[in-house]
Amino acid sequence: MDRIDLKNLTMQELVEVVAGLGEKKFRAAQLYDWMHKKEACSVAEMTNLPEALRKRLSEQFDYTVLTKVVELVSKIDGTRKYLFRLADGNVIESVRMEYHHGVSVCISSQVGCRMGCTFCASTLGGLVRNLSAAEMLEQIYSIERLTGEKVSNVVVMGSGEPLDNFDNLVKFIQMLCSEDGRNISRRNVTVSTCGLADRLKALADLDLGINPAVSLHAPNDAMRRKLMPVSNRYSIAELMEAVDYYFDKTGRRMTFEYSLIRDQNDTPACAGELAALLKGRNCLVNLIPVNPVSERNYERPAGPNVQTFQKLLEKAGINVTIRREMGSDINAACGQLRRHYEEESRG
Ligand code: SAH
Repeated sequence: MDRIDLKNLTMQELVEVVAGLGEKKFRAAQLYDWMHKKEACSVAEMTNLPEALRKRLSEQFDYTVLTKVVELVSKIDGTRKYLFRLADGNVIESVRMEYHHGVSVCISSQVGCRMGCTFCASTLGGLVRNLSAAEMLEQIYSIERLTGEKVSNVVVMGSGEPLDNFDNLVKFIQMLCSEDGRNISRRNVTVSTCGLADRLKALADLDLGINPAVSLHAPNDAMRRKLMPVSNRYSIAELMEAVDYYFDKTGRRMTFEYSLIRDQNDTPACAGELAALLKGRNCLVNLIPVNPVSERNYERPAGPNVQTFQKLLEKAGINVTIRREMGSDINAACGQLRRHYEEESRG
C-alpha cells in the first residue's frame, strides 16, 4: 500500500493521523504550520516536535517536495519558468510572473493531459497521471522558497485539465485558501477549464469563491470541434448552460479565453459570431495570440487582426483584454519545456 503523504492531508485528516499515533492534537497544528505556513522542506526541520516523533513521521510517511530541474528567467520582465521533478520521476512545469499588483504563479494540475486540444503541447503525450493536492501546493511553496518572495495570485492554467482531476483540485484550493495554511485569498485563485460542462456545474455547487475561466477558442461547434475534442462531448450550447449556471450560483464573472489562430478563428466573421454568443452575459474575453507549437502548424494572426478582433467585440459591448505577453524570450508554449526535456532524456 502507498504511504500517506503528510502534505496531502487537510488539518482534519492530519488531526486523525496524529491521534492514531497516540500524539496530542496540538502536534497536528504544529505539523500543519510547518508544512503549509513555514513551508518546511522536511520533517527534520520541525524543531519544536520531539525527535522521536520526527523520526516516526519520517519513517512512516511520505513528504512531498519537488526538485528543481530547470529554471529559465526572462531578461525582459523577470518571468520564470520552472521544470520540477516529482517523487516518481515525472516532471511538470510551473511559471512565475511579476505584475504590478504582485506575484502570480501558474501551476500544472496533471502530468500531461488527455483533452487533446490540437494547438496545445501539454496533450501531445496524453495523460500520465493526476497531481495530488500536495503536488499542486508544492509548486507554489517551491517557487516561494526559491525566490524568497510570497505569491499573491494562483492560476491553474498550466498543463492538465483541472476539472479532470476534480477532487484533488478542490482539496488543493481548500488547503491553499485555508487560514491554517498558506491563506491565499480565494478571489486570487483562477481555475481554467477546456469546458467539462458537468464538472463546471459541480464546481459552481461548491461555491468556492474562486475565478472561473473557460477556454472557448471558437464561436461555433463546427470550428470548436476541429480544435478541441472535448466539444464532441459538450456542445457550445451545453457549455453556455453550465456557464450561466455558474454565474447564477456564485455571482462570479466568467472569463473566456480565446486563442487567436491565423485564418481559422481570427476573422471578423468569427468576432461577430462570438459577440452574438456572449451578448448579455457578464463576462470577459481574454484574447491570446496562439503560441506556435513545433508539432503543429498553427500561426499567430497578424498584429492588426488581433486589434480588429478586439474592437469588433468591444463595439458589441463585450469586455475584452489582450493577454499581455510575459517572458516572450523564454516563451515556449505550455507543456513544451516538459516535452523537450522528456525527448532529450529519452535521447
Ligand atoms: N485545461 C485547461 C487549463 C490549461 S491550458 C484549459 O483548457 O483551460 C491554459 C490555457 O492556455 C487554455 O486556454 C488553453 O487553451 C491555452 N493554450 C494551450 N496551448 C496554447 C497555445 N499553444 N497557444 C495559446 N494558448 C494555448
